[in-house]
Amino acid sequence: MHLNPYGADVVNLAADLANRRPATAAELADRCRAAGLTLERPVSPQDLDRALEALMAWEEVVDAADDEARAELLNRMLAAATAHPRLTDHAGTGWHLHYRDDAQPLGPLLFALISVGTALHLTGRGMHRLRRCTVAECTTIFADTSRTGRQRYCSQRCANRDAVRRHRARTPS
Ligand SMILES: [Zn+2]
Ligand SMILES: [Zn+2]
Repeated sequence: MHLNPYGADVVNLAADLANRRPATAAELADRCRAAGLTLERPVSPQDLDRALEALMAWEEVVDAADDEARAELLNRMLAAATAHPRLTDHAGTGWHLHYRDDAQPLGPLLFALISVGTALHLTGRGMHRLRRCTVAECTTIFADTSRTGRQRYCSQRCANRDAVRRHRARTPS
């Protein structure tokens, strides 16, 4: 289980799972593995339920009206999900920090990982760096990990779509 919560992987995984909710425990496991998580135990329907709860809470953090509300909602997630930080070298690959109890199933583990990863992302890179795409009919969530912190679109495709539209709006027909 080694996704570095200080990096971008955790918030990107949260956005991926929130944008397209996993339908089964097996799908949740596959997509977590694809994101780089090492799963140490079998994944159950209860893990899926807990993960979906985490994603629901996380989506409220994304849609919070301002920084204070965002911090408050995220603090609630942290309180519900995390344990005291501790040093561990459980895989023998190097000492690192866990913000959860040992030997957690995937559901609670994801809840803790997403809460901590998002807290580190927002405080480290900027409180505004979690949002939905600027294109009105695209509701895709993304974590802005760009250098400038001014990403407005979920994808190049949406950026192009909006550029064409703005160009058309300016061009007399
Ligand atoms: Zn670990
Ligand atoms: Zn978009």
